[in-house]
Amino acid sequence: MKKSALDTPMMKQYIAIKAGHPDAIVFYRMGDFYEMFLDDAELVAPLLDIALTSRDKGKTDPVPMCGVPVHSAEQYIRQLAGLGHRVAICEQVEDPGPLAGRRLVKREVVEVVTPGLVGDPTGIEGQVEVSLVALAQPSAGAENWALAALDASTGDFRATATCVDAEAGATELPRNLLEELQRVAPRELLLDSHLHETLAGSFLLALPETTLTRISAEDYDPESVPACPEGFEACPDGSAKRAASALLGYLGRNQPFALAHAPRLRYYELGTTVTLDISTRMHLELFENNEDRGRKGSLISVLDLTRTAMGARKLGRWVAYPLRSPESIQRRQEAVAFLASSDRRRGRLREALAEVRDLERILVQAARPGAFPRDLGRLRASLQGLPGVASAVLSEERELFEREASERSEMPAGIVVPTTLPKLADLLENGLIDDPPAIARGSRGANESGYIRPGYRSDLDEVHRGAREGRDWIAGLEASERVRTGIPSLKVRYHPVHGYSLEVSKSQLAKVPADYERKQTLANVERYTTEALREVEAKVMGASERAAALEREILEALRQTVVRAAESIRLSADAVADLDALASLAEVARRGAWIRPEINDRERIRIVGGRHPVVEAGLRSQGSDGFVPNDTDLDCGATRLLLLTGPNMSGKSTYLRQVALIVLLAQIGSFVPAEKATIGVVDRIFTRVGASDRLSRGESTFMVEMRETAEILALASRRSLIILDEIGRGTSTFDGLSIAWAVAEYLHDTPGLKARTLFATHYHELIELARMLPHIANAHFEVREWKDEVVFLRRLVEGGANRSYGIQVAQLAGLPAPVIQRAREVLRDLEETDQSHSTDRDASTRADPQLALALGGDSNSHRPGQTEILEEIESLDPDAMTPLDALLAIGRWKTQLGGEE
Ligand code: ADP
Ligand code: MG
Repeated sequence: MKKSALDTPMMKQYIAIKAGHPDAIVFYRMGDFYEMFLDDAELVAPLLDIALTSRDKGKTDPVPMCGVPVHSAEQYIRQLAGLGHRVAICEQVEDPGPLAGRRLVKREVVEVVTPGLVGDPTGIEGQVEVSLVALAQPSAGAENWALAALDASTGDFRATATCVDAEAGATELPRNLLEELQRVAPRELLLDSHLHETLAGSFLLALPETTLTRISAEDYDPESVPACPEGFEACPDGSAKRAASALLGYLGRNQPFALAHAPRLRYYELGTTVTLDISTRMHLELFENNEDRGRKGSLISVLDLTRTAMGARKLGRWVAYPLRSPESIQRRQEAVAFLASSDRRRGRLREALAEVRDLERILVQAARPGAFPRDLGRLRASLQGLPGVASAVLSEERELFEREASERSEMPAGIVVPTTLPKLADLLENGLIDDPPAIARGSRGANESGYIRPGYRSDLDEVHRGAREGRDWIAGLEASERVRTGIPSLKVRYHPVHGYSLEVSKSQLAKVPADYERKQTLANVERYTTEALREVEAKVMGASERAAALEREILEALRQTVVRAAESIRLSADAVADLDALASLAEVARRGAWIRPEINDRERIRIVGGRHPVVEAGLRSQGSDGFVPNDTDLDCGATRLLLLTGPNMSGKSTYLRQVALIVLLAQIGSFVPAEKATIGVVDRIFTRVGASDRLSRGESTFMVEMRETAEILALASRRSLIILDEIGRGTSTFDGLSIAWAVAEYLHDTPGLKARTLFATHYHELIELARMLPHIANAHFEVREWKDEVVFLRRLVEGGANRSYGIQVAQLAGLPAPVIQRAREVLRDLEETDQSHSTDRDASTRADPQLALALGGDSNSHRPGQTEILEEIESLDPDAMTPLDALLAIGRWKTQLGGEE
């Protein structure tokens, strides 16, 4: 009977290991390959597009198998994790040595890569963050909701908490935490297995790209944390601490070595930054455009002139989290201004930054067990770039100091000079050769040594010297033996298994001396050795093995030093990332002639000569200076709602976004594209775009539009900035118009709301609102007619647009002439009918907005009187009035109304 293919020591070992990781794909190390077997192999082969073969084909039940070479494994591992899989890396944890092939090598899972916990981070695209988030629900003694987020590829670890939503109760995730989750957009989300099913299910919708992983309730216990990083004990919120505990526990279970240098935990408050929900981020095209979701045409594409990937990530975070407090904004502004003020210093700094490269991720890789000499070499190169950065920031200061010592101002608080860690840099400089090689993890062999710099360790030098002398002796052996034996064709051979030998062809056998010992017989030659050769050979081979072992030991010691220095390296890297992001903002400001906005706590947004940063940059890149600047003045107490009317293509949407972007830029501490700007800070930016403007994205139901609008009305505060572009457009004209009208009124009137709002609409009827409500003003984009065509001037002017120029725009778009002609006729007829309606109207119908709407046309002069009366009523306090006061007031109003009739 044939033996089962599973019934071998190796397959038994595999099955035992796999049993410990049933939910992961096991990468089983065999020499220079990772092999997968059985179900794993069948699952993975098509995913990675690699060949599915089988082991022991001759047996009754061949085992399906596939494999990837160790040197390119990281890319496959990342690919599988990206698809939501877990990968358990099972290594040979003992040196097979001379036993190779005779006994089964011990193997262990050393690391599990999960969707949110990547392994080697060096291949990840620079700006991309890879977050793992743990969510904590309220519990006894920790009543808040909280999340902790870790980017293990960079060492960014933070946590936040928020109190239970009074209306929603403890079973529902508070709105701001959900928004924060969407902002972090984790690759993997850890959820308490007791979390309410409907809530857990809702994450599938809210976070479609996220892998959900259930963990047990005990994992949240701070007592269970295997190793507490800095900042953990100091975390001010119990729930945040629980979330962080769950996360650290998960890290420890999957990548235990990472706990040795777990990054510092930072607690942050959601209330200190501007809330930007998903639709706002999308409509403003902050990180990707709305056409193909690429970076081109996004705000970040204009803003990002960073020189390092960590600077790019930092800048991205600044854009995602604009600040609220004027003090913190001004602090960053100071730093940007400082770097913008000297082109020379900034130029030098930006050059120096490029040398540091992605220190955060290079550190993560260099600190991993089994790091390659190359990884530590990269870390060294990065560290050696630090002094350049530090001196680029400092030196001009020093010159300045010499020139104008008395006037020298302090360096702005936002500028932190990175520490340079010279000792660690020197250690790595002395310890490693100039271009240290990459060596596949755990691979072995004589050629593995030689990356430690000669002179670093005398014992290693000694071993190398012994080996060298032996090799020199062997190298000279061929010549001396030819002379001694008189065999001119004698050769010294080397074979990886049989070692060194003296080779003599069969025709010369007679001349072989007596001290030669036969080693191997081939077809035409005999191979011999001698006692001396055997001795030297043993010395050389022993020396190579000893050197390799010593170098591995030294490399490991260097790695340990790096692990111990991890937190200081991270601090320095963070300072560099700050400088890079600041220098980028300064560079953008200088190139685009942006100005530093004034930031305050008041309720006014005043912009003179504002431009859309991205549209302007687009025009510039086409060689045009054609962007037309426009002003803005919004103030909760004055004009709080600006109603923009005007034809399609006149520039409404661009203007709306321009204002939102300028406010956002101002609040990240950036300069802004304007001549002058004063920004009273906002707490949230909402943008909503009417359904039909988003048809291309295929999610344009009227429902979505209305739900988003409902959110604004529910969530906005007086401090918010609201951008409404053509809302109500997704339904019939009268429905849409009525909704738009009511929304505008609501925003204008609701106490506690009254937010600064820009409202673009093609419903010209809304112009009426400004006459009735004191805090609404009309504006439109100037359009000229020229020979029956429209010319867009892109200039914002006061007042409502009087015409929509739809037909002219249609003509521009290339509608056939007969159609345009006919449309003009129809329009004329419609307008005439409308005129006759208007003359019929009496005062009472005109006072009714619904009727006025239905009838359309121009307005009348009676409303301001009514508005004053309404405002007076609004301001009255009935409790403080006598009945007589009330009667007198009613009398006065009646005369006012009657008198105007
Ligand atoms: P609307 O929303 O009124 O239909 P858009 O804002 O979409 O108009 O603008 C139409 C086009 O006009 C856009 O392609 C934009 O590039 C251009 N545009 C808008 N505002 C300006 C401006 N201020 N200066 C130059 N071009 C502009
Ligand atoms: Mg538009």
